[in-house]
Amino acid sequence: MLGKRTKVSMTQLTDSFDRKMDYLRISVTDRCNFRCQYCMPEDIKFQDKSHILTLEEMLTFAEACLQLGVTKVRVTGGEPLVRRGVVWFVEQLKALGFSDVTMTTNGFLLKENLDGLVEAGLDRINISLDTLQPEKFAFITRRNHFQKVWDAIMAALETPLSPVKVNAVAMRGVNDDEIVEMAKLTLKYPMHVRFIEMMPLNGDTDGSHFRSLFISGREILKRAQEGLGDLVEIQPDDPAAPADEFKFEGAPGTFGVITPVSEPFCARCSRLRLTADGKIHPCLLTDLDVPVKDAIRSSDPIPAIHEVLWQTARIKPAAGLTLPERSRNRTMSQIGG
Ligand code: SAM
Ligand code: SF4
Repeated sequence: MLGKRTKVSMTQLTDSFDRKMDYLRISVTDRCNFRCQYCMPEDIKFQDKSHILTLEEMLTFAEACLQLGVTKVRVTGGEPLVRRGVVWFVEQLKALGFSDVTMTTNGFLLKENLDGLVEAGLDRINISLDTLQPEKFAFITRRNHFQKVWDAIMAALETPLSPVKVNAVAMRGVNDDEIVEMAKLTLKYPMHVRFIEMMPLNGDTDGSHFRSLFISGREILKRAQEGLGDLVEIQPDDPAAPADEFKFEGAPGTFGVITPVSEPFCARCSRLRLTADGKIHPCLLTDLDVPVKDAIRSSDPIPAIHEVLWQTARIKPAAGLTLPERSRNRTMSQIGG
């Protein structure tokens, strides 16, 4: 049973800088079956399950957001597919009326869930893949599962979820030698391959890991063009889209970069993040979070959540912040990438 349905007049959630907040990312779990080096330490301690919201509670939160003009939801984590009931959760989000429900996954459990996700109405899928080399994959993710992820990507291309987005975190000296090989995938498959600039969000507090591995989106584009020829820029349908997208001539797919570090897209940020333990993060560049669990669990949750949402919108930072080189208090897996 979802939160009590209260009739409210629709006012678009907008922050103090007039940015419309219409995109919600829900981290359904902080747990993961991988241990990617850029995302979490190998010995990460996951939250006690008693602190985690139920999927029904997350739906109540989503419903409150929908009433304030949030139209898009991304289901993420940790690894969303390790959370039992997540396919049902996607179906419920669609039933609530979100126009765009998407998921980001590491792909390990995707193949067996593809039919369910398509039937549930998932609109699109992003699959993370940082390398095409199985040994390197095992080094980066600390798990030896390249083939299973690759097979899932190939299977997803055969479903209505095609074209799929493939996300790679760029790391100097680790996978930057594969920029051209990864870009070549777009010549062969209807794939949107995007390199993401690495952010200091892996729990490495002195920042040395981050500094030694960082490589900018600009350099990635230059190296892709040197290897494969000119890229033609594509104008995004969604002005808030974070990726700068390009195409090689005649390619069925696209190639792009996401540059949260070198060219942050804060001025057009429309995002809110709900963590699995019930906090709203209005901004990835700060440690700001606003607890919403009590509101969700209150006797009249929708108005209580609305109040917290407006409070969060008021404190969403202005554009122009830069990421410190030290890691944040929470890892990417805890916030929900
Ligand atoms: N487990 C899923 C996955 O890996 O796709 C979803 C959660 S993961 C936190 C979401 C996205 O964040 C992934 O594309 C991942 O590559 C990206 N990510 C994780 N840590 C990052 C970091 N330090 N900098 C940039 N992107 C990061
Ligand atoms: Fe897990 Fe995704 Fe983080 Fe990798 S990036 S450790 S798959 S949550």
